[in-house]
Amino acid sequence: MSIPKMMKAMTLTAYDHLELVSVPVPQPGPGEVLCRIKSVAICGSDPKMIHGGYAFTNWPPYYPFIMGHEWAGQIVALGEGVEDFKIGDRVAGEAHVGCGKCDNCKRGHYTVCLNYGHDGHDGGLDLGHRHYGFYWQGANAEYNVYKTSALHRIPDNVSYDVASMCDCAGVAFHGVQLAGVTPGGTSVVFGPGPIGLCAMQECKALGSGRVIMIGRGKKLEKARELGADVCIDFEKEDPVQRVLELTGGVGADEVMECSGAADSPMKACKLVRKTGSVALIATYHDPDVLIPVNTVNFNEIRIVGSKANPNVSEEVLNFFSTGAIQGEKLITHTFPLEEYEKAVDIFEHKKENSIKVVIHP
Ligand SMILES: [Zn+2]
Ligand SMILES: [Zn+2]
Repeated sequence: MSIPKMMKAMTLTAYDHLELVSVPVPQPGPGEVLCRIKSVAICGSDPKMIHGGYAFTNWPPYYPFIMGHEWAGQIVALGEGVEDFKIGDRVAGEAHVGCGKCDNCKRGHYTVCLNYGHDGHDGGLDLGHRHYGFYWQGANAEYNVYKTSALHRIPDNVSYDVASMCDCAGVAFHGVQLAGVTPGGTSVVFGPGPIGLCAMQECKALGSGRVIMIGRGKKLEKARELGADVCIDFEKEDPVQRVLELTGGVGADEVMECSGAADSPMKACKLVRKTGSVALIATYHDPDVLIPVNTVNFNEIRIVGSKANPNVSEEVLNFFSTGAIQGEKLITHTFPLEEYEKAVDIFEHKKENSIKVVIHP
């Protein structure tokens, strides 16, 4: 494959300023590969970063910055010492690569690496950590370089577009696994956005007896179409009361909070059973969200925080392959890189009943 010297990239040059530019194609270092990016899914975190919503955590760390972290593509060049992948491999990427040396990484918790940000981009220490699309250059370009530990081979029957949702479905699945699914039990999912719709299908795949989706509007209809057993429109009825009714007053076995609404964690704790679990998978606009601590205490509710998608990519790619997650049905729009701003607008403002919007660089 002939690789050009220059490539198109969509860069963030300041908050709310995007610019399509021509930049050099990066070169893979030892343990890295160069990928031709085929599909990049827009994530809820992308518009937030564009608007400066992650200044508190220093994303992006510099300008101009290439965002994009939910991607799939093809390997076109190998760096020194790469033996686990070959040119031509179809791969999906993870955003996080841990340093591999700290205590958290050694225990498999690489999305909460203790050496976060030590990637050497500013001339500081490079301890091997990468956070592609957030703290290190991402996929909104024709090419990007990745460490092979960020990559997973895509099953033959899964398209690049669907595989680009490996990250999104993985974020859902990490939370689902942390909460735990009771086979034959009742699972509740708050928020029928892309992550919630994946979580709902994953609960079913893990043997939940009944999955209840809480949301509203067209997305709630989508949840029904994708197999939610009960859909509760919170604008029309009280979800806490309804779930208690449906479970004989006992409550749900586990709750996946994917909505990010300020009052959802409170509701989740009120509709989960004694000794049930609540996974907080969403991020919150207002970080000071209320939790009913006495209910949590007296009912021995287990609340778990869930950060990104460690150790779940192989599983979610299999879910896409078998149809346990109906990936194609989540993708409502695709755009070329040139129309990135329009794509973000349609995704962010939920125009045209958008769910997942995918870019083709
Ligand atoms: Zn994402
Ligand atoms: Zn680490």
